[in-house]
Amino acid sequence: MLLEVVDLHVHYGAAHAVKGVDFALDTGRTLALMGRNGAGKSTTLKAIIGLVRPSSGTIRIGGRAVQRLPPERIARLGVGYVPEERRIFQELTVQENLEVGLERRRGTGRSALERAFALFPSLAERRHRLGRELSGGEQQMLAIARALMGDPRLLLLDEPSAGLAPKVLDQLAVTLSRLCARGLALLLSEQHLGFASLLAERVCVLEKGTVVFRGSLPELIADEERLRAHLGLG
Ligand code: ATP
Repeated sequence: MLLEVVDLHVHYGAAHAVKGVDFALDTGRTLALMGRNGAGKSTTLKAIIGLVRPSSGTIRIGGRAVQRLPPERIARLGVGYVPEERRIFQELTVQENLEVGLERRRGTGRSALERAFALFPSLAERRHRLGRELSGGEQQMLAIARALMGDPRLLLLDEPSAGLAPKVLDQLAVTLSRLCARGLALLLSEQHLGFASLLAERVCVLEKGTVVFRGSLPELIADEERLRAHLGLG
């Protein structure tokens, strides 16, 4: 198993944000963490990449326990992370933003750049534009492309669909599916069914830091009561 999260607990001071979350994700598979605002989705992703320290529980990547490692060591095990706020360097060009992602990478930078541009042709066209000149969709693509520069085997995406138009999301889902077909595992947090339904095979729904549903997306969609109760949908 590529990623295993076992009985994960995270506290922020006295606040118990994640309460015994368990799930696993294998190579080339996709899983969406769903749930309302504050359910614990972002905190779970941050714990996996090492930005918050779990109070207890185990996180294994490729069989190795990582819950005490710093983020840069976890990234080097092949984990990419795109935070909700994307963190594009506004005053750097598209290409320079991607080169920042390369600094953590061994091997040849040029081929990684060309791979990123082949994957996202609209970024190739804009490679000399500044970050701040990009649309929201292009910024999200750039944030994902930058996370891919280190050639991860697991990519964590925090609310990738936030603020993006349906057409952009369709395009993003096609690109990400292509990467998964080549073996990338994808863990995303999503509040809305739309993007998750384009991409995710499995879903874990969190409520107040606890997993309240796990299963396939069609199973979740068929369960109107659960959709209403845990996602405010249906
Ligand atoms: P959102 O979509 O709003 O990010 P989420 O499901 O990702 O929601 P988290 O951001 O993980 O939820 O938040 C889980 C709980 O932890 C919430 O109650 C939130 O208020 C709290 N929390 C998150 N970050 C911090 C922090 N830095 N300090 C204190 N409490 C926090």
